[in-house]
Amino acid sequence: MTDMKIKAVRARAVNVPLQYPVRTSVGVVATSPLVLIDLETDTGVVGRSYVFTYTPLALDATRTLVASFGDAIAGRPVAPFDVDAFFAARLRVVGRTGLAMMACAGLDMALWDALAVHRGVPLAVLLGGVPKQIPAYDSHSMDGEELGVERARRSVAEGYRAIKTKIGYPTLGEDLRIVRALRRCIGPDTELMVDYNQGLSVPEAARRIRALAGEGVSWVEEPTVQEDLQGHARLRAAGVPIQMGENWCGPEQMQAALQAGACDLAMPDAMKIGGVTGWMRAAALGQAAGIPMSSHIFQEVSVHLLSVTPTAHWLERMDLAGPVLSGGVRFQNGLAICPDTPGTGIRWDEEAVARFAA
Ligand SMILES: [Mg+2]
Repeated sequence: MTDMKIKAVRARAVNVPLQYPVRTSVGVVATSPLVLIDLETDTGVVGRSYVFTYTPLALDATRTLVASFGDAIAGRPVAPFDVDAFFAARLRVVGRTGLAMMACAGLDMALWDALAVHRGVPLAVLLGGVPKQIPAYDSHSMDGEELGVERARRSVAEGYRAIKTKIGYPTLGEDLRIVRALRRCIGPDTELMVDYNQGLSVPEAARRIRALAGEGVSWVEEPTVQEDLQGHARLRAAGVPIQMGENWCGPEQMQAALQAGACDLAMPDAMKIGGVTGWMRAAALGQAAGIPMSSHIFQEVSVHLLSVTPTAHWLERMDLAGPVLSGGVRFQNGLAICPDTPGTGIRWDEEAVARFAA
């Protein structure tokens, strides 16, 4: 029983530069727009988290939502399940998707961080586990051949045993040329995943996946629009395991995808799935379905979550918040090392936060 209560929530918007723009078949993410959340409690403990808004267009609205939702829970106990139930009821008719889900999830992650800091244990320990070393794949972009090979070479040199690239070039021939160039670079023992970012029609995806089946690709991610669960289900027959999940809003959407047989592998996003609370429910669905579960961005909190996920698979190494953080998850020999400090390990580099304020 915690006697700790929520005092106030501070939400700040930053727009952080990226070492490499995230290029996909459907657009470019040039910077990393984040809302940084500080959840103050009446004990002095502060819970921290951030949400990623994908586009700067959503930054201001998300910051405002986090602040107003934070006002709505001031005075309540630091009890993430109860806060989750509160928002589920209050937002039932609005719909807890999109920006509303992002704001709720950000607060949820901050609440869990505050609880773990209060107990003086890492989040993984608060959740009943131990901090683990999780296999991580280095997540790249639609980089073209020259940069793609350069990044792949660096990943292998740093000890990664898997990389992911985004494809969906104008022609299948170009997709194959890039995949083969990367394979030549990383050799037969490093896994290679590909991500279409929803860019193909189902028939075109079927044609391309059949061609990729001979290339030793470990998974094909979101080959077609993510709402098309039946389309994804049909594509499982094309010869490469289908991966999806980063756009599931809440465990209910994961359950719908699993019921439709949409994928072989699952990769919920810690934010869109509903924060730590949503992830733990998703992890139970993953366990019941026997489906390997990987993470999507949010590497700092995901390393704790995968430490307590029964079917834990890969952690995605994509650093979207590094410039405004001090400390957090470390990567060594292709493993994400879960920190053993209290909470999630998220702390701000205040000087950088001021510099990148939006
Ligand atoms: Mg993806």
